[in-house]
Amino acid sequence: MEIIRIPRIVQDTCNKHRMKGRSVGFVPTMGALHGGHLSLIKRSRMENDITIASIFVNPIQFGPAEDLAKYPRDIEDDVRKLREHDIDMLFLPDDGLMYPKGFETRVEAGHLAKKLCGRFRPGHFNGVATVVAKLFNITSPTRAYFGQKDFQQALIIKRMARDLNFNIETVVCPIIREHDGLAMSSRNRYLDEEQRTAASKIFRGLNAASAAIHSGGSVSEIRSLMVKMLSSEPLITQIDYASIYDPETLDEVTEIKDELLLAVAARLGETRLIDNMLVNVS
Ligand code: AMP
Repeated sequence: MEIIRIPRIVQDTCNKHRMKGRSVGFVPTMGALHGGHLSLIKRSRMENDITIASIFVNPIQFGPAEDLAKYPRDIEDDVRKLREHDIDMLFLPDDGLMYPKGFETRVEAGHLAKKLCGRFRPGHFNGVATVVAKLFNITSPTRAYFGQKDFQQALIIKRMARDLNFNIETVVCPIIREHDGLAMSSRNRYLDEEQRTAASKIFRGLNAASAAIHSGGSVSEIRSLMVKMLSSEPLITQIDYASIYDPETLDEVTEIKDELLLAVAARLGETRLIDNMLVNVS
């Protein structure tokens, strides 16, 4: 596995692969790698000749009061895991290489960026769309892999790729969970033992809501059920949102229909966790 920091060199290498007719799979991450990231890597390895991962904690997607400085970083362990998975290249730029002095052009994500997490993290998805556009231009992959864990992010990236004519297939992969159902996340490292146990309530809330949909509950009953389950856990200190959405528009639904998205963002102290579940009623 080559580790390359300079965008220009990655660009040249990727172009050579594409010119030789090789398919390139790309997995963008912020590091502190876990089973969720590694599932994307495995999928890319299966579907492409060449797999490239990136690790970059993107400063422009963090708000001023967010966890940029303390975001978990463990590059040695990440490199070890990536080598074990036998990928071809790790792109590991630093802030100055991605945002050199004078950088001022940004991608503006549209209305989808204002829903769900966008209400609580203003500007976040513009930062994500900007860095992903840069990473797409640097790696020019055949396919790029994202997790359903960040459902809204994947939807926004798909829309961006379509709107800005990136000739890249965006593949959305299933959520990988811990044994008790908690969605794997780099931010789980922030949780103490009690919070870690309490965090599984999020998945249980989603599961209960899904079961209630299948047994004919109304939108308002299901919403209250989710909120009640989350609020019954004292270590869940705030619920940013917990509701039922249209998976295409991210609008809250008013009645049950075939395809639904259950989505939650909740805080355990300082740690904000998100999770979701797609429900197919038919
Ligand atoms: P991050 O490093 O958190 O920016 O995540 C990088 C990629 O991994 C994103 O596409 C995430 O959606 C995906 N990802 C994170 N957690 C999981 C998970 N538990 N299961 C599947 N994909 C995940």
